[in-house]
Amino acid sequence: MGMKAVLGDITQEGVDAIVNAANESLLGGGGVDGAIHRAAGPELLAECRKLGGCPTGGAKATRGHRLGADWILHTVGPVWHDGSRQEDALLASCYRNCLKLAVGKGARSVAFPAISTGAYGFPAERAARIAHREVSEFLRTHPALEVRFVCFDRATFELYQRLLK
Ligand code: ADP
Repeated sequence: MGMKAVLGDITQEGVDAIVNAANESLLGGGGVDGAIHRAAGPELLAECRKLGGCPTGGAKATRGHRLGADWILHTVGPVWHDGSRQEDALLASCYRNCLKLAVGKGARSVAFPAISTGAYGFPAERAARIAHREVSEFLRTHPALEVRFVCFDRATFELYQRLLK
C-alpha cells in the first residue's frame, strides 16, 4: 500500500493503529500525547498504568479505547541534545519497533506523528529523513501495509511531501 503524508490531527485518522509520541512514564503528557489521551478517554491511562513505562526507542501497544483506531502504539522518542547521544539511532528504533508491533497486532494501516520533533526538539528535516528511510525499508518486506505520516503543521507536511516524491 505504501506511504503518504497528510496534514491534520492524528486522533482523527481512520487507521488500525495510531502511534503516540509518549514519554518514558507512558502516563500522558503534552503535544500529541495529550491529544491522544483526551480523545481515547480515561480508560487509556488506566491501561497505560499497567505497562510499567517504556525505554527510549521502544514501543508498547494498548487498545484504542474511544479512538477510532483499534490500537495505540506508544513509543518514546529521544530528546534531542546535539546529535551525539544516539538520537538518530533511537529515533529509527522508534519507527522500526512501532512497525513491527503494528504488524504483530494485525494492523493493516498505521499513522505516525513526527516523533520527537515537538517538545523533544529533534530537527524536523533530519527526523523526517529517518522516518522516511525506516518506513521505506520496512515496506520492502511488508508491502501490504499502509503508512501515513500525519503532519500537524504545513512546514512538516511540505517536508514529507518532498521526501515522498
Ligand atoms: P515529542 O515530545 O516527541 O517531541 P510532541 O507531541 O511535542 O512530541 O511533538 C511531536 C510532533 O507531533 C510535533 O510535530 C507536533 O507538532 C505534532 N503534534 C502535536 N499534536 C498533534 C496531533 N494532534 N496530531 C498530529 N501531530 C501532532
